[in-house]
Amino acid sequence: MHIGMAGAGLSCAVIARELAEAGHQIEIFERRAHVAGNCHTERDEKSGVMVHIYGPHIFHTDDDEVWAYVNRFMEFKPYVNRVKATTKGQVFSLPINLHTINQFFGKTFSPSEAKAFIEQQADLSITDPQSFEEQALRFVGKDLYEAFFKGYTQKQWGVSPTELPASILKRLPVRFNYNDNYFFHKHQGMPAEGYTRMVERILDHPNIQVTLGADFSRDMIDRFDHVFYSGPVDGFYGYDLGRLPYRTLDFVRSEAEGEVQGTAVMNYCDASVPFTRITEHKHFAPWEEHDRSVCYTEYSRACSEEDIPYYPVHLTKGDAMLDQYQARAKAEPKITFVGRLGTYRYMDMDVTIRSAMDVLSLWKLNHA
Ligand code: UDP
Repeated sequence: MHIGMAGAGLSCAVIARELAEAGHQIEIFERRAHVAGNCHTERDEKSGVMVHIYGPHIFHTDDDEVWAYVNRFMEFKPYVNRVKATTKGQVFSLPINLHTINQFFGKTFSPSEAKAFIEQQADLSITDPQSFEEQALRFVGKDLYEAFFKGYTQKQWGVSPTELPASILKRLPVRFNYNDNYFFHKHQGMPAEGYTRMVERILDHPNIQVTLGADFSRDMIDRFDHVFYSGPVDGFYGYDLGRLPYRTLDFVRSEAEGEVQGTAVMNYCDASVPFTRITEHKHFAPWEEHDRSVCYTEYSRACSEEDIPYYPVHLTKGDAMLDQYQARAKAEPKITFVGRLGTYRYMDMDVTIRSAMDVLSLWKLNHA
């Protein structure tokens, strides 16, 4: 079959590779000048630092198959994400762990003491938390919520945490020990040569042709037997029902000699600080040595027509427009919508790869 694809991010790369190996001919159209979507990495010419151009990406998964998949195309170096957070004039460790709790409350609690203490802080009247705020008040209480989550979340999403789903906070663990690993997955690492090199290798197959700087338009559909579309689902329909809300990010780049903040990611949780976090990219590759440093200060704002969409914004109240776009997308006989933008989901890289694998299994069943 002759298969067309819109976008050369993780979703289409994984699907393209498997279909190419099965003998299909794949043509991919990527609007940007590079593959790998928002996990794109590029070595800064002057300092040699590998920069995560669209913000920090740390690979972590519990899925053995996905882990084996990425390791087939790239060596992964051991990497543990340990995040720091500045709030109320002090630096703390995230995710919330025993060190955070003891430092924040000025205590020397043991794990069981801390657990009992946080249970006193928690609002136990919330039995089935629906919103981000309810989830936070239920599990960490008002003081920790206001110090670490309220301001950051308002800045990141542009709406009150009372309107956001609890699922966003469920991404972060709370620990009553000193384990400060940001993730709870069994596999975690960084691609030795960056994500873009990994995606280039996935796409490196004689049956795959990638055209960069090229938009996929609806009038191209007839050229193909099937199309996988990883662009924004509302964009595919020319936004005829309106625009779905996304957050976009602005990165203010700075360079310096030596080291700037001593860690890869520092979050700024106070509402009065306009940015959400600062990333010092060289710490993502601790096996490399660089004299100079490149930092990105990250600002989040509503995504307009000219901006790159990053995060789909789901509210607890749901979105009738999204339901309509998704119903139309589902009914398309020749097009499969994939990825973060195509399915309008807040997905980590491992989930993106898993979803692509699952989409493929289903597609193969229907096209056997
Ligand atoms: N979050 C927060 N304070 C922090 C870190 C995270 O309030 O210091 C909230 C925020 O709403 C964020 C969500 O938790 O969007 C998920 O955080 P994560 O670090 O997974 O965000 P990502 O790296 O995907 O932007």
